[in-house]
Amino acid sequence: MAYTYDDQNIFARILRGEIPNDTVLETEHTLAFRDIRPQAPVHVLVIPKGRYVCFDDFCLNASVDEIADFHRTAGEVCRMLDIQPGEGGAGYRTISNAGANGVQEVPHYHLHILGGRMLGRMLQRAD
Ligand code: 5GP
Repeated sequence: MAYTYDDQNIFARILRGEIPNDTVLETEHTLAFRDIRPQAPVHVLVIPKGRYVCFDDFCLNASVDEIADFHRTAGEVCRMLDIQPGEGGAGYRTISNAGANGVQEVPHYHLHILGGRMLGRMLQRAD
């Protein structure tokens, strides 16, 4: 996948208001909304409002304000949805898929936040 941003990707369309979303939290630079095909009781996608294809593109090209806002928002989502680790042993996983090997479906940088159940080990073999 090239670093060419596709303005027709589904998250760009969500950001333009062309497709509805179930928003959890919105800030100046960041939008968090529920995944349409949740893989856990909590499955939220956190995306920057800027045009970044994947994690390393965001790290290289986003402003410090955007990067700080993104992570503050992701952390706030965990607290809002009460999945932060606590005495009950709850917790969550964040995942960011990139490119072909990462099996990234939507070419707009996003962080998955998954929680609300035991998530098992981190990876399964693809072969
Ligand atoms: P990726 O495989 O790119 O890391 O994950 C993309 C995620 O976007 C998938 O979990 C998929 O269910 C979710 N998704 C795809 N289209 C839509 C949509 O139109 N709305 C929402 N809320 N999520 C979507």
